[in-house]
Amino acid sequence: MKSIWMDTTMIPRRNSLTGNKRTEVVIIGAGMAGVLTAFYLQRHGVHVVILEANRIGSGQSGFTTAKITSQHNLIYQKLEKSVGKDHARLYGKANQLAVEEYGKLITRNSIQCHYEKKDAYLYSVQESKKLLKEAEIAKELGLPASFVQETNLPFSVCGAVRFTGQAQFNPLEFLKEISSGITIYERTKVIKVHGHDVITDRGVIKAEKIVFASHYPFVNIPGFYFAKMYQEKSYVLELDSVDDLGGMYLGVDKKAYSLRNYDGRLLLGYGSHRTGKVPDTDPFITMRHTAEHLFPKSKILRGWTAQDCMTLDGIPYIGTYSAFRPDWYVATGFGKWGMSSSMVAAKMLSLQITGKRTPYDSVFSPQRHHIKASALRAAEHGLESVKGLSAGIRPGVVNCPHLGCRMIWNQYDKRWECPCHGSGFEINGKICAGPAQRSLPFID
Ligand SMILES: Cc1cc2nc3c(=O)[nH]c(=O)nc-3n(C[C@H](O)[C@H](O)[C@H](O)COP(=O)(O)OP(=O)(O)OC[C@H]3O[C@@H](n4cnc5c(N)ncnc54)[C@H](O)[C@@H]3O)c2cc1C
Repeated sequence: MKSIWMDTTMIPRRNSLTGNKRTEVVIIGAGMAGVLTAFYLQRHGVHVVILEANRIGSGQSGFTTAKITSQHNLIYQKLEKSVGKDHARLYGKANQLAVEEYGKLITRNSIQCHYEKKDAYLYSVQESKKLLKEAEIAKELGLPASFVQETNLPFSVCGAVRFTGQAQFNPLEFLKEISSGITIYERTKVIKVHGHDVITDRGVIKAEKIVFASHYPFVNIPGFYFAKMYQEKSYVLELDSVDDLGGMYLGVDKKAYSLRNYDGRLLLGYGSHRTGKVPDTDPFITMRHTAEHLFPKSKILRGWTAQDCMTLDGIPYIGTYSAFRPDWYVATGFGKWGMSSSMVAAKMLSLQITGKRTPYDSVFSPQRHHIKASALRAAEHGLESVKGLSAGIRPGVVNCPHLGCRMIWNQYDKRWECPCHGSGFEINGKICAGPAQRSLPFID
């Protein structure tokens, strides 16, 4: 399964690690978070090496729809209620600055990555109440938000929240350019991290500091990310010959769509569900019907899926990995907003690693306890994990190599999925998504 970015962008191959080495910082993972963090650390004069199990951008960053925005669904009304106005404001400010930083970086360095400024819209076909509230709160928090009645969508809406000055790009063209001056070892899988030793299948690197930018952090103890994070999957269809919709869109109703153009095409996103909880109906068929109805002249070129890590309170984990490991750092839990969040992580971690504090540290701290904000998702996640684990002890089931949960077959995506933490495996058992780090035993 390839995305449009993978089919249209060729990133030169890198060598694998050979033998043992030393460096100041090792970053695990060459996705958007890892590469951007390395880029800003290098700017601070730090010697960095990235270790990548596969290829640059081959993880979830290669399958994103790549909207760069501080508009993260209806998050501001939720955050204001759950973590308070000050934290909500800081969350918005960090992400809005991240959106602006992309623009500056791309312009200053003349990066050719189909970067386009676009307004972002949240729409509803059912009601405007939540949208009005989101527009009001986001504006109050200092974001470029307003409520509008009309959009360029090919169906009528009850209204929309518009964020001006947001953007979209081709994420792999961007990664190709910014990774060019960074030491990256591809096809070098980190097997274990022991203190300051990063042990790979090709050799060991000793580092003063280590950053886990591996999407889902795979060291279970300390950190306990398996207890505070799960994954959600969504489906994308690429259509040709669709006129520009003049913005990037996300529906807030149940079973709504995400829409953005790219080079005369449309990327239609749909069907969010917890990885491992397979829906009754095929999301690709639903999307095909919608595409035929809304864009009758267009042809479906391909479909793909992606998944992302969801935290219990909806805020990413960016900062030290654990109080017991002050030299380990993490950037994860982007909740399907990993373009702006990766930039937030890169800016924060490059400062923290060089001994500075940022105004956002406590908001994104992985050691935070937002009990009020986390209670519902914590209960749901606990229940799903217990169900998956207890089903895993039955004889004859396929178990996840991560923590032993019973694997589920996703017939639409043709993959094995873990309902507890979201690891994914191809039909032959080959691993394609963590936190598991090994393939299933029946790999050919
Ligand atoms: C359908 C969908 C659409 C989305 N659209 C948007 C959008 O429009 N805008 C937005 O902001 N966000 C979007 N997102 C979210 C965004 O794509 C992700 O948050 C982001 O790509 C995550 O980047 P990352 O660097 O954390 O992870 P990845 O890109 O997955 O990078 C992690 C890397 O770590 C490597 N790795 C893992 N384990 C090891 C190991 N042991 N050793 C070495 N390397 C390892 C992997 O191979 C991988 O390359 C979307 C998500 C989904 C599901």
